[in-house]
Amino acid sequence: MANGNEKDFSAFVQEAGLIWGPSPEIYGGLAGFYTYGPLGKLLKNRVENSIRKTFNENGYREVEGPTVLPNEVWKASGHLDTFQDRTIKCKKCGAVFRADKLIEEGRDISADAFSNKEILDFIKKNKIKCPTCKGDFEEKIEKQSLMLGTVVGGKEASLRPETATGTYLPYIRYYNYFRKRIPFGVFQIGKAYRNEISPRQNVLRGREFTQAEGQMFVDPKEKNNWEPYEKIKNEELPFWSEAEQKAGKFSEKKISVEEALKKKLIKSQAYGWCIWLAYTQFRNFGIPQERIRMRQHHSEEKAFYADDAWDIELNLNNYGWTEVCGVHDRTDYDLTQHSKASGVKLEAVRDNGEKFIPHVLEIAFGSDRPTYSLIDLFYDKKEEGEGKTILKVPYHMSPIDVSVFPLMKKPELRDVAEKIALELEKSFVVDYDFTGSIGKRYLRSAMQGTPYAITVDYDSLKDKSVTVRDRDTEKQIRVKINSLTEILWGLLKDGKKFGDLK
Ligand SMILES: [Zn+2]
Repeated sequence: MANGNEKDFSAFVQEAGLIWGPSPEIYGGLAGFYTYGPLGKLLKNRVENSIRKTFNENGYREVEGPTVLPNEVWKASGHLDTFQDRTIKCKKCGAVFRADKLIEEGRDISADAFSNKEILDFIKKNKIKCPTCKGDFEEKIEKQSLMLGTVVGGKEASLRPETATGTYLPYIRYYNYFRKRIPFGVFQIGKAYRNEISPRQNVLRGREFTQAEGQMFVDPKEKNNWEPYEKIKNEELPFWSEAEQKAGKFSEKKISVEEALKKKLIKSQAYGWCIWLAYTQFRNFGIPQERIRMRQHHSEEKAFYADDAWDIELNLNNYGWTEVCGVHDRTDYDLTQHSKASGVKLEAVRDNGEKFIPHVLEIAFGSDRPTYSLIDLFYDKKEEGEGKTILKVPYHMSPIDVSVFPLMKKPELRDVAEKIALELEKSFVVDYDFTGSIGKRYLRSAMQGTPYAITVDYDSLKDKSVTVRDRDTEKQIRVKINSLTEILWGLLKDGKKFGDLK
């Protein structure tokens, strides 16, 4: 961890009801499995709803497939034979670690592309020791499969390590549903499982996690005749090319998608559009742009199926630059493999009668990492005074929209406050709280990241108005009870501020 607030931060994540674990805690916990508490689950829902909105707005439709698939699928996809991590063992305590992550942690490099020898040399040269006991490592690299297997009805099966493969299998169903027209896009949000060697870093690297993956099926001949590209080609993104990485520099300067295509950093308009869409998604989460960069995969680290491949990385306070998304041109690899293995032709037909296998452009990410990133980036602890802590997430992403408080525990105030809370529940996520001092309730509301707090006081009984208080400015305005919904709608959904309300 980069800052000294590590303990405060971890305690906050647990105590605020965001993320608990490893679960099950009362049994000591199984590494890599977590429980989202009430506040964390609300935040994760925001993230997933933002994903749904972004994909739907851009022509994708959501589907949901099973999380368990027979091993013949994973044989065909290549996972059974090649989905492995490289491991290294501590000579002293016997603990096993993922070799590339040992190198990457706390360093701004990617070890994916390192050969086994390069990994061993790097560990030696940098005197990397066992994180558990500070012992030395064995001088050999081994491999461990990431697949979690099971048996279903006597048949060998595995829990899916990604949603992508399962998304490709109903290809013919989609093709018919979308009236035999290419391109079309589908996405899945759902659980996936990887038997990670040494899961750490909370939900950033769990063994069970929620993926969100969009798949655009395209005609390879139309990749550079991509209509939506025209609208976004001038958008500037923080591309960080392989050449710049190798020269050891990261320029803050952004370039347009069109320029990236001209410079051959990316190969097609359709891919350029996908990478723009992925970037847009992270901006829609409210991640500040200076915290985002797009990192080109090195030619050696690209997956065997991938043509164009870039990652999105976020600069987190606790872990530095962290991979949160991959955008891949998977070509016809998947449909070809599953066509061969199943014996079913997975193809499309052009207007002129030509048959072809569509290519797949994939945006692969999930909801755990963005959720964690929002907590990491917007955790704001004031050192002075009482040590006030605010979860300063952008208002549109806050887990709870509005808190409703009666000033005191008196029945007449509670009556009015409860009615207001009930009414607002129709449109917003509301936290109703009548216990403790009003000051403490404001603090708790800000700690939960809630943008607005409504207080019902004795004047409310007479003037039918309440006080609305802003989380960040702590400014208050007086609002008629019967216009609360409309005003909160303007503030929360249309991004208005108090000053705009007159
Ligand atoms: Zn050790």
